[in-house]
Amino acid sequence: MKFEDLGLSKPILDAINDCGYDTPTPIQEKAIPHILMARDVVGLAQTGTGKTAGFTLPMIEILAGGRAKALMPRSLILSPTRELAAQIADNFDTYGKNCNLSKALLIGGSSMEKQIKILDRGADVLIATPGRLLDLFGRGKILLTDIKILVIDEADRMLDMGFIPDIEEICSKLSPMRQTLLFSATMAPEIKKLTEKFLSNPREVAVSKSASTAVTVEQFQVNTTPKRKNDVLHKIIKREDVKNAFIFCNRKRDVDALSKWLSGKGYDVCALHGDMAQSSRTETLRKFKAGEVPFLVCSDVAARGIDVDSVSHVFNYDVPVNPDDYVHRIGRTGRAGQSGHAWMLSTKYDEKQLDAVIKHIGKPIKIIDIEENKAAPKTAPKAAPKPKPAKNHEKPAKTKPVHKGDNSGKSGFGDEIPAFFK
Ligand code: AMP
Repeated sequence: MKFEDLGLSKPILDAINDCGYDTPTPIQEKAIPHILMARDVVGLAQTGTGKTAGFTLPMIEILAGGRAKALMPRSLILSPTRELAAQIADNFDTYGKNCNLSKALLIGGSSMEKQIKILDRGADVLIATPGRLLDLFGRGKILLTDIKILVIDEADRMLDMGFIPDIEEICSKLSPMRQTLLFSATMAPEIKKLTEKFLSNPREVAVSKSASTAVTVEQFQVNTTPKRKNDVLHKIIKREDVKNAFIFCNRKRDVDALSKWLSGKGYDVCALHGDMAQSSRTETLRKFKAGEVPFLVCSDVAARGIDVDSVSHVFNYDVPVNPDDYVHRIGRTGRAGQSGHAWMLSTKYDEKQLDAVIKHIGKPIKIIDIEENKAAPKTAPKAAPKPKPAKNHEKPAKTKPVHKGDNSGKSGFGDEIPAFFK
């Protein structure tokens, strides 16, 4: 299928063409026609599948015909984090560049005065985190009665972050005569309830198993002790051909401590977590995205869904507490058909969490003995869901250099299609 077959108009097709996209991704192919027919849609898709364009493109098409009045936006996209909201706003600019629509980005940590001024001029699209939106609504700076399209993005993350009551409150302030689109990587009972309450006869489109990891990401685990973690990470970085990397920690204080330690070792590192001022979060992300700093040490909240082209490595300094976070973390690499490498440090204290991750992804992770510089595990890796003894005692190859590029087509989705695209 081509973008031309989806019912999008020329200004939008031109913008897509300028992005170099050849063909729609499966979620785009499945969701866009329903959205253009004004249906409510539940999209089961994780980041990396092209879901943002999946809802942004048809929204631009629908909204292109009208103009917003002051204080009365015509559509609303709710995002769990500020960074993700900013990224959606960038997407909106890219795909809507020929359509002259106005937008407002309403996120915490940024000047409320400026946001109010933009709302005063009228915004066709609001992209907001739930807290800031409710704050502005409470101050009477915004009217939600004219919202014709509501998007709830990353609903599973909203749930993890405790935003479901906020979402319910926002939904109850909107006109029932609206179109609602909800995207989530998983369909927890609370999210199902939300869809039953606030969506009307939605079409369900799915492109992935909830826990699928891209086949383009090679995954490795290194067993170590809490004391050895920094040195082991250092060893892995030295032996790998790292172009740029996310390094995930479970705790904010470890983000700060590890980034300082790595800086001390001479690495160009920046740190990102939720306690930092929004201005430095934005600047850090800009530097990492622009390739000015190759290592980003971060927490899950700050890095969720962040789209950075061609990330060669993801390091899990800690085994994530929530197994779904593992899928999201390693999904930062191996995007759009490129190859990527994900490493995880694990200690004897992480057994339970590690079991949960392996069960969640449904396959074992190859154990590398980094101290001996061997790939073969001394003990068999834990298989999931039914444990099978591992046979991978092959001589460990140093992982291949990454980012050779994908010459298979303009779309960037080559022969190696991520599992969730199938
Ligand atoms: P998302 O899942 O929305 O985070 O998108 C993941 C990445 O896929 C982003 O870098 C998009 O720019 C890219 N992308 C979205 N749609 C397409 C497409 N049809 N062809 C190629 N790349 C795409």
